[in-house]
Amino acid sequence: MRRHCGKSPRQSAYFMRNAGIRHEAAGLATLLCVLGILKRDGGAATGALEQLRFGETFCEAYETFLSLNERPQISFEHACHLLRSLEKQNEICLDDCEGCGSPLVVLRYAQRPKVCEFCASTRPPARPGLSVGDC
Ligand SMILES: [Zn+2]
Repeated sequence: MRRHCGKSPRQSAYFMRNAGIRHEAAGLATLLCVLGILKRDGGAATGALEQLRFGETFCEAYETFLSLNERPQISFEHACHLLRSLEKQNEICLDDCEGCGSPLVVLRYAQRPKVCEFCASTRPPARPGLSVGDC
């Protein structure tokens, strides 16, 4: 079996594995943005104090994430990887949902979903002729 050059994208593909993980990844990315850890322009913390504060805030973000998800699939290690990957933006990056504007975690070089899991599930495509109501 031939190997591709560079790093395996498998780790980042983890965040695309199923709807639940995609939803969690988007929620976690939103938290990281809101708390100012994830800079969408790519700037990262540099000074020692900034790094320390960064670590604290990251833990805070992950704890908030845990409190929002009953049985989270994304572990702390995966959360770290998500943050690093979104900073580097070479495998996955953030996009905006066309429906509600919330951040979407997408694979950089794959076909991107236009809407988030929430919009996709609450606004299904209209399918006339399939209504079964009898009222
Ligand atoms: Zn949406």
